[in-house]
Amino acid sequence: MHRTKVRIVEDALDANNTIARANRDDFDRHGVTVVNFMSAPGAGKTTLLERTIADLDGVRAGVLEGDVEGSMDADRLSALHVPVVQLNTASGFGGECHLDANMVRSALAALPLEEIDLLVIENVGNLVCPAEFRVGEDLRVMVSAVTEGEDKPLKYPLMFRACDLVIVNKIDLLPHLDISVERLLANVEAVHPGVPTMLVSARTGEGIDAWRDWLVNATNRAAAPA
Ligand code: MG
Ligand code: ZN
Repeated sequence: MHRTKVRIVEDALDANNTIARANRDDFDRHGVTVVNFMSAPGAGKTTLLERTIADLDGVRAGVLEGDVEGSMDADRLSALHVPVVQLNTASGFGGECHLDANMVRSALAALPLEEIDLLVIENVGNLVCPAEFRVGEDLRVMVSAVTEGEDKPLKYPLMFRACDLVIVNKIDLLPHLDISVERLLANVEAVHPGVPTMLVSARTGEGIDAWRDWLVNATNRAAAPA
């Protein structure tokens, strides 16, 4: 890559980090734990939220729904009577393939921060750049569906390294696929040693209790005095 291009990218990421810290301050002031939820398109992020977000042992959750266009996912989650704010990157953000701190900042006024304990930011489906842009989150979770194959951690290592939890979704489909979950997990471990993993099926509900507990614990842990 040309040196000037490297320089421009570094400056953009510095600017992003400055705004992410401002977001972080606002979330802290309101006592909101923030999870940046990332995956390739179609891995099941919205379904995993549908399964959990309305029933979190008293934890009040909200969702910031990032998509290039449309509000299908936000509409699904609104039906559960949790606060949902749609952020479309095609509206004023050049159709970006990820959320950045500035986009999240633009949505803060629309979020009822004083009424929620947990904000899940569902990022744009993409395995590449969401990992590069902090948005002010406490924790990062990524979903890898077994239908994506077992090689994704090796092909998109940054994404797998950047997260605090890897959810392996769609395990109900394993009998129909030539994929080894053991090899997938070994590949995750190879690029991010020690990262927690969870095997779930958003469709059947298998493993969903562990995901719900993780969200509850993550919120309560962040809320506890240091
Ligand atoms: Mg979605
Ligand atoms: Zn992008």
